[in-house]
Amino acid sequence: MKQETEEQQDFVKEVTKMSDDFDRWYTDVVRKAELADWSGVRGMMVVRPYGWAMWEAIQRAFDDMIKESGHENWAFPLLIPRGYLMKEAEHIEGFAPEVAWVTKAGGQMEELDEPLAVRPTSETIIGAIIRRYIQSHRDLPKLTNQWNSVVRWEMRSRLFLRSREFWWQEGHTFHASAQEAIDEADLILGYYRSIAEDWLAVPVLAGKKSPSETFPGAVHTLTVEGLMRDQLALQMGTSHYFGQNFARAYDISFSNRENERELCYSTSWGISTRLVGALVMGHGDDSGIIVPPRVAPIQVIVVPIFRDDEGQAKVRRFIDSWSGDLKHSGVRHRVDWRDERPGDKYAHWELKGVPLRLNVGARDADAGQVEMVDRLTRQKVSVPVAGLGERLRKELEDFQSRLFDRAMKFQSDHSYELRTLDEVVAHFRDRGGFVWTEWCGDADEEARIKAEAGGVTIRVIDEKAKVTGKCVVCGRPSTYRVALAKAY
Ligand SMILES: [Zn+2]
Repeated sequence: MKQETEEQQDFVKEVTKMSDDFDRWYTDVVRKAELADWSGVRGMMVVRPYGWAMWEAIQRAFDDMIKESGHENWAFPLLIPRGYLMKEAEHIEGFAPEVAWVTKAGGQMEELDEPLAVRPTSETIIGAIIRRYIQSHRDLPKLTNQWNSVVRWEMRSRLFLRSREFWWQEGHTFHASAQEAIDEADLILGYYRSIAEDWLAVPVLAGKKSPSETFPGAVHTLTVEGLMRDQLALQMGTSHYFGQNFARAYDISFSNRENERELCYSTSWGISTRLVGALVMGHGDDSGIIVPPRVAPIQVIVVPIFRDDEGQAKVRRFIDSWSGDLKHSGVRHRVDWRDERPGDKYAHWELKGVPLRLNVGARDADAGQVEMVDRLTRQKVSVPVAGLGERLRKELEDFQSRLFDRAMKFQSDHSYELRTLDEVVAHFRDRGGFVWTEWCGDADEEARIKAEAGGVTIRVIDEKAKVTGKCVVCGRPSTYRVALAKAY
């Protein structure tokens, strides 16, 4: 069996190298790999089919998880009356700067009696509606979710990471006890961890946010944080426990077992199309993106190689003889018959990060084999077509775990343990990554870290870790073990 490594040939042209300029690389690959584009409406993106198919794969995986544990999908209104939005003071204070309003409607653009907010998130309208369906403890829990898009009037935009409209799921659940709601928020965080690690192959830190980073109106916020290849952290999903805060504002109560009225305990949680950005920034290289097989719209691309019509017919018959086997094995593949040179096709699919490429020429047809090229290692190996579907299925599983291992190694290579604020400031002057340290919990000191270390924030609090040392800022005995990072 011949095995060699394809040289780092520059098939891919006209894309800024990741190593030269990460931000430009990101925008270049997102647009040239046809994931998304700007739309002409300022700050609003269009997700193109290749990017949307990745989001659909994430959607299916997560939807299966929540259905399995009894959650139900709903569809709630896009527009929220101003009065609803104003009820939870802390919540609206957090969102007010980003809310877009509908104030006029109709042919004459008549002024509406009450302005309607385009939902930035739906806690307020769901709270106002769900109370109708909750009378007794027997009506609980109510485990709702909806797949939709929301609008937040951002001033700075970045494809997938920050745009005025994005697509997501928002789960909202209502429970008869605090413990049950706390457990729900934990359960969902576990699902988010699985989406990040098992599906997107991005290892994450999971834990609690500090009070200053907690969602407006929440008692606590849980998060999963990945490390991108520019050593910046990215928040990949959050799950919030509200206690009775929202139930109080929207009067969502039930009669408990003692037949007394009690306010519900609630949660909310979301992941968004930002995760497509996460897989781009978490795995890419100078040649483009690398798509984890489990969410790859195309897992295997077949590039036929021929000189003339006769050669083409021969290669086509050969491919037809085994492509059914790939389909049967559940391998998502496509044959690239476009009228382009093979080298250009290699570049195209490399940029788009398809995990495996099969080069197939007339000589391969004679030998009953194909040449398989791995997007991650660039190794080339000849593979017999007998049993090809099964072989590729295994190769893709292996690719998925190699991609995770690579990201895990990157994360550990860029994780540090520091003890003083001076060390932290010096570290972030020319490096990134996760810096583990200990903190006493003082909010002013947290603000000081941010100010002195160039925007560094506490990404997660590791609640399971034992704290033994001193606070990184004040030197008093610490309360929390925390991971610091610069983040998107
Ligand atoms: Zn301190």
